[in-house]
This record gives sequence, C-alpha cells and structure tokens, in this order.
Amino acid sequence: MIVRVATEIALNKFFDYEVPPQMERLISIGSRVKIPFGHREVLGYVTEVIEKTTLTAPSGEGMLPGTEVPVKLKRIIKVIGEQNLITPKVMALAVWMAGYYCCSVEVALRSLLPKMVCREQEGWKKQLYIRYNQGVPEPDKLTKRQKEVLDFIQQKRELPLTQLTTEMGCTSDIVRRLEKTGKVTLAPLKILRDPYANLELIPTQPRKLNPAQETALRQIVSAMDAKDRGQVKPFLLFGVTGSGKTEVYLQAIAHALEKGQGAIVLVPEISLTPQTVERFKARFAEGPLRTQVAVLHSHLSDGERHDEWHKIRKGNARIVIGARSAVFAPVDPLGVIIVDEEHEYSYKQESEPRYNARDVAVVRAQKEDTIVVLGSATPSMESYYNAQKGKYTLLTLPHRVDNIKMPGVRIVNMSSEMRMEGVPQFSTMLKEAIRLRLDEHQQVILFLNRRGYATQLQCPACGYVAYCPYCSVALTYHRRECLLKCHICGYQVKAPYNCPECNEPGIRYKGTGTERVEETLAKLFPLARIRRMDTDTLKKKDDYQKILRDFGLGKIDILLGTQMITKGLHFPRVTLVGIINADISLHRPDFRASERTFQLITQVAGRAGRGNEEGEVIVQTFTPWAPAISYARDHDYVSFYEEEIQHRAELFYPPFGRLVLITILSQNEELLQRVAEELRRQIETRVPAEALHSLKGPVPALLERAEGYYRYHIQIQTRKMSVLSRHLFDICQEFRCPEEVNFTVDVDPVNMV
Ligand code: ADP
Ligand code: ZN
Repeated sequence: MIVRVATEIALNKFFDYEVPPQMERLISIGSRVKIPFGHREVLGYVTEVIEKTTLTAPSGEGMLPGTEVPVKLKRIIKVIGEQNLITPKVMALAVWMAGYYCCSVEVALRSLLPKMVCREQEGWKKQLYIRYNQGVPEPDKLTKRQKEVLDFIQQKRELPLTQLTTEMGCTSDIVRRLEKTGKVTLAPLKILRDPYANLELIPTQPRKLNPAQETALRQIVSAMDAKDRGQVKPFLLFGVTGSGKTEVYLQAIAHALEKGQGAIVLVPEISLTPQTVERFKARFAEGPLRTQVAVLHSHLSDGERHDEWHKIRKGNARIVIGARSAVFAPVDPLGVIIVDEEHEYSYKQESEPRYNARDVAVVRAQKEDTIVVLGSATPSMESYYNAQKGKYTLLTLPHRVDNIKMPGVRIVNMSSEMRMEGVPQFSTMLKEAIRLRLDEHQQVILFLNRRGYATQLQCPACGYVAYCPYCSVALTYHRRECLLKCHICGYQVKAPYNCPECNEPGIRYKGTGTERVEETLAKLFPLARIRRMDTDTLKKKDDYQKILRDFGLGKIDILLGTQMITKGLHFPRVTLVGIINADISLHRPDFRASERTFQLITQVAGRAGRGNEEGEVIVQTFTPWAPAISYARDHDYVSFYEEEIQHRAELFYPPFGRLVLITILSQNEELLQRVAEELRRQIETRVPAEALHSLKGPVPALLERAEGYYRYHIQIQTRKMSVLSRHLFDICQEFRCPEEVNFTVDVDPVNMV
C-alpha cells in the first residue's frame, strides 16, 4: 500500500510513502501519520491511497540518459489515533477550500481539527481510579482500618483515588497494601471534560408548528428524503426575529436523526450562550431520538474541545452545535447543516485559511449530497440575491410566533436635540421611555457599538489629538483606568491631565463610548441597576454568561453593551431597546456599511417585546432618511434589499462581482510600494482578462498603519473566482518577496479596512 501525504512544512507538495503491512488496516484517507522527512520526523495527513507511486527519480549510473526509475519510498513510522481523524469527505472539502481561498492544502487542513486532536500525544485527561474486584477472595489478615477502607471501596465499586483519600482520610500507603492483595486495582481512566455538565436540562417536546413553519419544514424534510439529494438547492429561511426559526431547525434535525443521520448547527460565536446550547440539548435529552449534543467554540479549553470532538468522531454525539470551525465536524452520515444568522461576519475567518463557514457549509452540503439551511431575519445581500435568482430556495416566516407584534420603531433626529452645550447622549424621548419602563419594572437594552469613554482626546487650544505611535488611529480614552488605549494594537499610555503639546489644562473628549454612557445613565437613573457588557468589562471566561444569567433573573434593569448584546438573546421582559448612535456603523468606509447598519438595527430591535408586553425601539441618528435606518423602522427588509442591490450592481460589488483583497505590509514604506507595484504587474500580465473585471491599487489601506507596519491594498473584482484564485496562487508561490515585506490574499473579504 502506498499513500500520498501532506505535511505542514512543505507547502503544496505531496510525498508518497510506503505503508508497512501491519499498518495497512489502520490507514485510510484522512489518517494522521508520522513520517521520516529529510533528517526529521514530522506529522502529516494521508490525502490519497494510491496503487503505484508516480514519483520518479533521475536515472542512476549506467542507464540511458533521460530514463527514470521509480524512487525507493520511505515508510510510514506511526499512525496517530484509532481512526482516521479527517473523513474522506472533509478531506475533499479541504482540497476545494485550498483552490478557492487561494491557499495550500496544508494551510486548509490546519483549521480542520482542534489543536489537541492532531497532536501525537494522547489528548485525554486521565485520573487514577481504584476499583473493587468482585471475583477475588477476601484477603484475611486485614487491619480494622484497612477493612474500613475496603468496605468503602466496595460500596462505591469504583472511584477516583483522590476522592477516596479525602473522603476516608486515608494514606496512599493503605491503598498500596490493599492493591497488593489483588482485591482492588489502581488504573488510570479517561475522564470526560464536559463544559456544560452543570446545565440543568428540562427535556422539551416538539411544538405544534404554525402554518408558515409547517410549510418551511415540509419542504426541508422532503428535500432530505429526496432520491437525488445532490440536486437539492440550499434553503434560505428568511424569518423575522422571533418567528420560530429555531423550532424549524430542531424538527429538521429530528428528521435527520430518524433517518440515522446527524446534524451540524452553526451559530455565530457570540450567540453560543447557554440559552442556545440548552435548547438543543434539552430537545434531544430524552426519547427515542436521544443523543448527545457536542459543542465546539473558542471559549472551550483545548482539552474540552478535544473531548467534544471525539464525542462526534465516535458517533456518541450525532449533533454538533458550534461556531465557524464546526463546519468541519466529522459527522457522518450528515443529514443536515444549519447556518443560523447566516449574514453574520463572524463566519469569516480573519487568518489563513480565510474561509467563510457559511459558504463552506453550502459546498460541503453539495459534496456530501446533504441539505443545508441558511437562516436569518436579515439575510446577507449575497444569499437573498441567490434566492431571487433561483439558486437557493426561499422559505419565509413573515410573522412572530403567537402573533406577538413586531416592536414599534421610533427614530429620533438628534439634530433637533442640539443644545447650547452640544448634543446630549440621550434624547428626551429615549430618557422618558427608559423612565417609564423602569417604573413598570420592565427591562431595557441599550446598544452602542463603541467601547471606552471617548474615542478621541483633543486639545481645544492647539488642536492636538493623541494618536497611537504604531497605528494610524486616535487613542481611545478609558476613564476608569485613566488610560489612552489603541484598539488596534493594544498600546496604552497614561491619560494626560494637560495637553502634552501646549500644556492647556482644558483637554476635551470627543466621541462617546459605552463607558461614558454608563456614567451618564447612573446619573440619570440613580436607582436603576445598570450593567455594561463589552470586551472591557468581560474579564473572566464566564463573565458573559453570568451577566446574561443575572439579566434573565431580573437582577439587572438596564443592560448596556456593544454588538455582543445584539443577537440570539431571548428575554421576554425586555420591552425597550435603545440604539444610542445608529450612525457609527453607517459611516464606515466599507461598501457593506449600509447593509451592516440595517442588520444591526433589526437584530437589536428584535430583542424587544418577545414576551407578553409589546416592545418598543428607539433609534438615535443624525441621518434619519438613510435607507438603512428608514427601512429598518418599517421592518422592511425587501425594500431595503431592492434599493441596496442597485448600488451593488452599479459598482459591480458582491453579489454581482466577487472580490479579492490583497494586503501588503512592511515597516519600510518605500520598499513596500515597489513590491506592491511589482505584484500588480504580475497580476496584470498573468491573470487571463476574463478573470479580471477590475484591478485597483496598490493604494494605502484605510487603516494606513497598524502595529508599526504600513499597509497597502490591491483590490480585484472578478466574475470567475476559481480561475482568478488558481492564477493568484501560482503568482504568490513564485513571487519573490523581500523578507521585510509580507502580503495576504483575502478571497471574499469581509473586513475592507
Ligand atoms: P427565532 O429563532 O426565529 O428568533 P425562536 O425559535 O427563538 O425564533 O422562537 C421564539 C419563541 O417562540 C421561542 O420561545 C419558541 O420556543 C417559541 N415558538 C417557536 N415556535 C413555536 C410554535 N410553533 N408554537 C409555540 N411557540 C413557538
Ligand atoms: Zn496602535
């Protein structure tokens, strides 16, 4: 048996190895193996099992020039794990990713497995257990104390050694003597690390669906039962917030389980709250479809992720719920993939390989002949366009469950709130609305997508602004810590009392952040219990969950936060949502700014009025006429889409054209410019014209400097990404880039700065 192996140290080259006969049984596509490589031993993945090696070596002495003989292959040293770690189907997906996202197969493989799963050492946590051996005759000469301890062990049958020593207060000496008698055995046992062990699950039953849910589910289920699943189009489940999308997912998953298949549920990192996890675990905790639900996301420890992953690989958990990388979970056979909040940017990985999990999910479904459901209250322009064009099947849930009304949205034009001393943080309308809700003992969510106290520190006398020495951004003022911080690189410095340039004492803060709003709130509503939630207040691993739990229990009246409070949260007692400044996301220099703003407003607004009381949303803005704001007021996604899609068409932005963004970085700007120009020339001459709709740059990026590096962009628009990507890859491989310069290629970029 001969196999082809990809290793992480030789990019985009594969090597053939011979498999020793005794290992043949253990090896298949996706196996992790240890191989000799030059003078070293390295780890790699089997990508193919082949009959005969096609690699050849130059001819030896005495042969005709030009003839080649097959090389003598080296042998695999060891196979890691009991099973192949990557299923052949996921391996095929990685190969596709490499081609599309313009990276090598090895880089694509890198993101497939949790770190601890692909190590050579075993990743299980073990603990020393002591076990009572039933069959062995009772030893006679035991002391009273030994007998006591033995009885205790017998009662428990098996227990961790540490538990025994603490509970019985005995020494390991006694234990060793007992072990000698053969009546007990000491052995290390695997223990499972379960991050959700403390969830109290109350099993739930499928709910009776309303007609819209019923229609949606029926279509999904019949697609799952279709003979030719490979032909089935992806579904786009477009349902307003609170329309019962999750219930449809749950019942589709139940159908997969009935057919003996599993499911992958992707949710944005942010909404991996215990609330969400609990809903999935509780539904499948009992009954004939009972299965474990594995959870995969970045807040788990390495060990927990290892154990969750193996639960899936072994088939003990048929359902996985997780963030981005769960799209690669080894669920097999796979009945359905669900991508909730498919419009979310967190599905995009911002380091190599720069994939978008939503798009990978669609491709995986295609390759595995399975069903994929993309769900959202605010579908991405790309997905809705695909539905319009008939590439996706559109399923709509137009109303909230139980005829709960959509919250009324009111827009406050902040220009008319202007006072002598400037614009206040709170309009009269928002202030009054909060007061009213507090009086009624209801809860309020306030949203501001900007942390810190002030975004800028400016001297009124000389105009000095404090900038980061390493990045082209102003420093954010954090009042409590009395620091100026850079939100790009983390640089921080003590905030000055006087202007460092002219010594003027009256230095001013501009641009309000959450910390400042919190302070104002406390003054306005001294009796209210206020909590701020942003990355500055979340210091410990479970702070996020703790705040949400307190909010759910009614221990908090006003929850103020950044985008981490915008989605997935279901708190029936929240009746008012306030958006402090809707313009922040609107004026970002990004072609998706308007779409993003519409999504944010709609998603935050969706947190209001999910219970019996009707909800209300107040949006503060200086540009009430902007489509993103006015259509969000009317909950009118379709009109927003129709207007926005025209701008996209005019500029050939996605979903019409596709984008590649190349970022070139260096501390040496002059050299960077020269290299960037050369890179552009290469692209111009080597990529076929059909794959180059437009080529812009190099120009300084919007964020011109970060962490001391100058940044330039080259932007390409294309109709044919696969052609472009293939050529780009070759260009990048062959491009002679000086060491002081680096560049990255981002296919379908989300971050345009
Ligand atoms: P979405 O995912 O669209 O935001 P959810 O699935 O969270 O909506 O549904 C909102 C609430 O309505 C949840 O509490 C859910 O349990 C409930 N719900 C969903 N479908 C039904 C139904 N058919 N009948 C009664 N309640 C339902
Ligand atoms: Zn900085």
